[in-house]
Amino acid sequence: MKRPKRWLPQSLIKRHTYRCMLCQMPQTESTDSKSHSAAHDHQGHKSQCHNDLCHNDLCEYCQALLPKVSATCARCGIPTSTPVSLCGHCQKTPPSFDAVIAPFLYQFPVDYLIKRCKHQHHPEISVLLAHEWLKSIQLSDNHAGLQNVDVIVPVPQHWSRQLQRGFNQAEIIAQTLGQYLHIDCLTALRKARTSKAQQHLTRKERLMNLKNTFTISEKFLHRCKGKNIALVDDVMTTGATVEMASQALKAAGIKNVTVWAIARTPETSC
Ligand SMILES: [Zn+2]
Ligand SMILES: [Zn+2]
Repeated sequence: MKRPKRWLPQSLIKRHTYRCMLCQMPQTESTDSKSHSAAHDHQGHKSQCHNDLCHNDLCEYCQALLPKVSATCARCGIPTSTPVSLCGHCQKTPPSFDAVIAPFLYQFPVDYLIKRCKHQHHPEISVLLAHEWLKSIQLSDNHAGLQNVDVIVPVPQHWSRQLQRGFNQAEIIAQTLGQYLHIDCLTALRKARTSKAQQHLTRKERLMNLKNTFTISEKFLHRCKGKNIALVDDVMTTGATVEMASQALKAAGIKNVTVWAIARTPETSC
């Protein structure tokens, strides 16, 4: 009869544990987690497993707290009572981008995680947010549009901001998504000048503030021209930033721009 392994001291049993990035409770890693299978099953093939990208970074309890958007305007991503292809605002003033996928509302705990990532120097939260984006898209069966994307481009920060913060969260999210979806991620946009802090500006003021801010890098132009681009940002508030970035892409000959954002503020329209 085989001797049970229970006699082994607990300290010798190899465990992979991590702390939930929201409630900080220790969790035992499960390689069968939803994030694992969701990311790996996309397009029917497995992506390379990068240790720290395969953890289920939120515990089940905290995951259930994520405020999911149930219905939106497909064009601008604004939450609506039932799904619509064009909301009233988009019918009057269509944005330059063609679609938005933003699965979460900018409410607790998504707002807390994003602020912690940006202002308390936690770039790893960007990876977690990218995982949650993937899982949400996979679960909602809203991933048909993902296959048409040729290149992923993050919304850039001005170099001085990037130097100060040390990272661009949109770029980390974009790279993580590119890695899982097997789509090239190019830092093709540049923010040519600094802009005023936008928190207290109206949409009109934001658009003025960002006028002629984004330029496309000559180096990447030929790889983007005529292609379908996914423009990645962390939060979409009034839509002014992605509108100006999308205008720069379209002016450079990009065929189609879909915005991929983690979260959308509920009360504003773009
Ligand atoms: Zn938790
Ligand atoms: Zn709309």
